[in-house]
Amino acid sequence: MSTSPAAEAARRRTFAIISHPDAGKTTLTENLLLAGGAIRAAGAVRARGENRRTRSDWMKIERERGISVSASVMTFDHDGLMFNLLDTPGHEDFSEDTYRTLTAADAAVMVLDAAKGIEPQTLKLFEVCRMRDIPIITFINKMDREAQDPFELLDEVASKLALDPSPLYWPAGSGGRFKGMLDLRRDRFLPFQKKGGGGPDEDEGHPPAVAFKGNAIVSYLEPDEQEELAENAELAMGGLKAFDPQAFLEGHMTPVFFGSALRHFGVDQLLEGLGAYAPPPKAVAARRNGEDIHVAPGDREVTGFVFKVQANMDPNHRDRIAFLKLCSGRFTRGMKLKVQNTGKQLSVNAPMMFFASDRELAEDAYAGDVIGIPNHGVLRVGDSLSETGTLRFAGLPNFAPEILQRVRVKDPLKAKHLKRALESLAEEGVTQLFRPSLGADFIVGAVGQLQFEVMADRLREEYQLDVIFEPSPYAEARWITGEKADVEDFIGKHRSAMGADIDEQPVFLGKSSWEIGYVTERFPKIAFHRSKERA
Ligand code: GDP
Repeated sequence: MSTSPAAEAARRRTFAIISHPDAGKTTLTENLLLAGGAIRAAGAVRARGENRRTRSDWMKIERERGISVSASVMTFDHDGLMFNLLDTPGHEDFSEDTYRTLTAADAAVMVLDAAKGIEPQTLKLFEVCRMRDIPIITFINKMDREAQDPFELLDEVASKLALDPSPLYWPAGSGGRFKGMLDLRRDRFLPFQKKGGGGPDEDEGHPPAVAFKGNAIVSYLEPDEQEELAENAELAMGGLKAFDPQAFLEGHMTPVFFGSALRHFGVDQLLEGLGAYAPPPKAVAARRNGEDIHVAPGDREVTGFVFKVQANMDPNHRDRIAFLKLCSGRFTRGMKLKVQNTGKQLSVNAPMMFFASDRELAEDAYAGDVIGIPNHGVLRVGDSLSETGTLRFAGLPNFAPEILQRVRVKDPLKAKHLKRALESLAEEGVTQLFRPSLGADFIVGAVGQLQFEVMADRLREEYQLDVIFEPSPYAEARWITGEKADVEDFIGKHRSAMGADIDEQPVFLGKSSWEIGYVTERFPKIAFHRSKERA
């Protein structure tokens, strides 16, 4: 069967799940894989996680803290569509990694805990999605527990996110009185049936849908419950906007699903919604030979960008895996791709695709797909790859480091070793690294405190380095750009406050936000950037 890159791209759905910790992202991931036929039994995702951990115990911290540090992608073929689920780490201190993963997503599922509504982390991640024009599908989870009033939940979505919620289903009760939900588009009732005591591994067979106005409904709803549901559904449909796919794609509207990930209820409907409404990969803005262009998924040339680099997936190798989101063309194994900013050419002989069951070699892949490319540090986050090597995608941002600390190794003989280790973690994007012009210290920048702990742990486990992080004299970092002469003049006047990042880009290290404000005002020809766009 020969298919075109455009047709293949059109059947891709590449999405991520965003949520506040504990809302049920892992459980939903697992149940989506189950619904998509990628795994046979719930519990498999965790089991696989455990396996990975026993194979490589470099992430002790992952076990100790019970958080998932390494993000990956899982691919499954369902109903004629190829779903790529990007797994984003949930802990708030890993937000930078999560944010980067979102640059590869074409849609996002926002999971809300029905009892808690929108929580701080949900809001932060939502803002990133909005910034990148990623359409959002809402899944209100844990309906089998006592929930807030659905109208209040939807009001919260409207007021906190400035997004029109459009329910496609309406729940009947919650908690012990959760009976199921009404399919608002087809006027069918989907009964919820909790089996026995229930556990995550139990097969939750829910009865098939019945006509809402028919006779069969009496087996599931008391007359007053049916009446209440009918009233609420009417109120919802009258008071809330009808689902408009275009408004959803433009980021003004979110279709709302209800369910219980744990009881595998509402998950099939969510997957169906993703297939029907989530967009395939779209054209991406780029530059080629000084011109602004758009790369369409059906274009002949194979192109993509690296959104994540992960080191030491296998502790016996110093290999890294760069995760490449394909943007166009038909990628085939063995193909040569060039890195735009370095001009390096790479034969991609062992690309990996990540099926839920295992890693496999990818024979071919299309726009929307994510392939893992093993390499020895050639590929960096933000790199653009293409056959000609002339194309550069609009940059992936580096998030502004909020905490700057000095790092010291306990054994001074290992200073060189420390330099290499720090550089490699910075290349991977775990943290940012600055080398002040004066002195021999390294300054590490991170978005959250936990990143330092993770880093210390990894330096000990993977590089046998015992390090100490200490407060640094710096409060904030700013990348500086401007005309060459102006930049040189500025650097000359601020030598003691200057540093460089791992790409030798000049960075001003300010001791306070007051100082940053002061230099910004005094040097209007210099632009001060909180983060670096790798463009
Ligand atoms: P994550 O931190 O967002 O990945 O959340 P998890 O998937 O780990 O879920 C957090 C907790 O909520 C776990 O104890 C789950 O078993 C539980 N949970 C998840 N979904 C549901 C649900 O639909 N109903 C109920 N009752 N519990 C759920």
